[in-house]
Amino acid sequence: MKTQQFVVIGLGRFGSSLAMELMDLGYEVLGVDINEEVVNDMSEHLTHAVVADATDEEVLKSLGIRNFDCGIVAIGDDIQMSILAAILLKELGVQTVVAKAISMLHGKALSKLGVDRVIFPERDMGIRVAHQLVTPNLLDYIELSKDYSIVEMTVPQCLNGKTLSEVNTRARYGCSIVALHRTEGVIVAPTAMDQLHAGDIMVIIGSNSNIDRFESEAV
Ligand code: ADP
Repeated sequence: MKTQQFVVIGLGRFGSSLAMELMDLGYEVLGVDINEEVVNDMSEHLTHAVVADATDEEVLKSLGIRNFDCGIVAIGDDIQMSILAAILLKELGVQTVVAKAISMLHGKALSKLGVDRVIFPERDMGIRVAHQLVTPNLLDYIELSKDYSIVEMTVPQCLNGKTLSEVNTRARYGCSIVALHRTEGVIVAPTAMDQLHAGDIMVIIGSNSNIDRFESEAV
């Protein structure tokens, strides 16, 4: 087991998936949900799962919440509950508090309360899927800021056998290929002489407009 300990508040679709993935990654996870049925379903998958109201300070204290490195508030639909749980995790001294927001206003409120990281799973997944739908080779998309992104794209047949210096993304399109995944492994920071193979995955960083240009002209 790795040393970092996580507490996930709310074991709905998002919380349960996140909690199980953390377990798969080798971390200890306490799951908390107010619904007994949900907790029963999850108990065999997590280190511990307890039925508790995460807006009850005494209950959270008795669970030793302040000893957790990271708390994730995965209650979405009930904004009031989400906000109260987030305040308590911060006040009780959980080192890093992450909370899921279902709207911009919900997110703003969580940020103002000092939540370390606010996530918008539905919004972000919608954006990702839209990019994947319009760019067939695009596998994944991470927004770094409003204008910059990292994208994962399959190397198309037309670039097969070309070296990075031949493709010359930096000079031609203003974006850089920062890694290549192939069956043999990952090449981080490939050199100008590394070759692209059709089917490899290239990781590209750049401004959205430059990446778009590369996608439409070269791929
Ligand atoms: P999702 O969209 O990811 O399924 P939901 O908002 O529907 O998320 O589910 C959130 C979960 O949080 C539910 O299982 C619900 O029982 C739980 N929950 C809601 N309020 C509390 C609370 N005060 N304390 C603990 N768990 C809660």
